[in-house]
Amino acid sequence: MSEKLVAIKGMNDILPPDSARWEWLEEKVRGLMARYAYRNIRTPIVEPTPLFVRGLGEVTDIVEKEMYSFEDKLNGDKLTLRPENTAGVVRAVAEHSMLYEGGKRLYYMGPMFRHERPQRGRYRQFHQIGAEALGFSGAEVDAELILLADQLWKELGIKDVRLELNSLGQPEERKAHRAALIAYLEQHTDVMDEEAKRRLHTNPLRILDTKNPAMQEMVNAAPKLMDFLGEASLSHFAQVKVILTANNVSFTINPRLVRGMDYYNLTVFEFITTSLGAQGTICGGGRYDYLIEMIGGKAAPAVGWALGVERVLELIKEQGLTVPQPVPDAYAVIPGAAALPVAIGCIQALRASGLSVQMHAPANSADGMGSFKSQFKKADGSGAKFALIFGSDELAAGKVAVKPLREGGGEQQLIALSDINELVTALR
Ligand code: ATP
Ligand code: MG
Repeated sequence: MSEKLVAIKGMNDILPPDSARWEWLEEKVRGLMARYAYRNIRTPIVEPTPLFVRGLGEVTDIVEKEMYSFEDKLNGDKLTLRPENTAGVVRAVAEHSMLYEGGKRLYYMGPMFRHERPQRGRYRQFHQIGAEALGFSGAEVDAELILLADQLWKELGIKDVRLELNSLGQPEERKAHRAALIAYLEQHTDVMDEEAKRRLHTNPLRILDTKNPAMQEMVNAAPKLMDFLGEASLSHFAQVKVILTANNVSFTINPRLVRGMDYYNLTVFEFITTSLGAQGTICGGGRYDYLIEMIGGKAAPAVGWALGVERVLELIKEQGLTVPQPVPDAYAVIPGAAALPVAIGCIQALRASGLSVQMHAPANSADGMGSFKSQFKKADGSGAKFALIFGSDELAAGKVAVKPLREGGGEQQLIALSDINELVTALR
């Protein structure tokens, strides 16, 4: 036998019955996005590497160490498996001049790739659902996106999620803060780790985001960006807070919330749970008014978020919420192969009428269709509410037997094969 091939570490197969949970979540999201008038966008999984280097920032975890990058064998182009999808959406919006007639509200779902150490809630191929509103500068759209996420938690039945908010202000405000921060950090290099020292002059803001416990006290006392914000930034932030409060969304201000990409300005936020251990951030986002221009598009404001599907599903499991598993309405018991053409004709008509019918099929057809007993065992195991029995006596009379498999399913009935409407009624 050849060596067994297995999936790449940190990249998971999503199998039934678990995949039903994924489909359930995706359906909920589609319904919700439609109600907020967000439209679906699908962009490639591979993008030019410079899109992420320029978009996310050179001195970020993702660009420094997490990207799966490679060269196109034919022309040497530098390509990257997308580590996130805001940059890709922005690229597409600019490329197709999508903001020509005004703002666009978009959402996506799909796999992302980051070379991280696999652990609970952290994978190398993971999935995000994201919402982006481009071409709108007002705080009401920041609030709309937060309300949309909050509504999603409600509709999924998720509890114990808290919202943290911050404002990163505008570039010139960050510049003033940055100077003060560097001056402060330079006084405290004794407690800083190597990564922080390296970032001192390239990306000092990211030092505040450190997970190193030895540095917490030092970063807690660092100059706060909030104290450097001007009137316009403060009033934008105030309006977000007023709308959220008026709509009963509670939040806490976290002045150290800076997010992992450089592209954010003004509002940033994260939804965090304490039920998932260290990987507690289920959704994060913010405003990115300068990103479109940075990647070569016509300047336009934008705001968005992305949630981690694996973490949201894990949280649903953790909170004991049950997700419905699909079961067929009927299982077709077909005792003899001679009945197949008629039986399949009948179940095709039922499926076309919207019913779910699982057809019996033996593992090895050379042994025949299998005994009644073994077929009923399969019918029972399928979870179907009814067995449809295509026996030779029934077929000779132009009929099929409908046998309830669950309690409360009523009496067994014989129904004419030609009367699809009656069959549909009996199976519903
Ligand atoms: P973290 O701090 O946990 O690394 P992040 O700031 O890198 O998160 P974002 O880039 O903001 O995450 O992505 C949005 C969401 O995608 C996260 O809140 C998380 O739910 C999910 N996510 C990010 N990286 C991973 C991963 N490697 N595996 C699973 N989910 C992830
Ligand atoms: Mg990360």
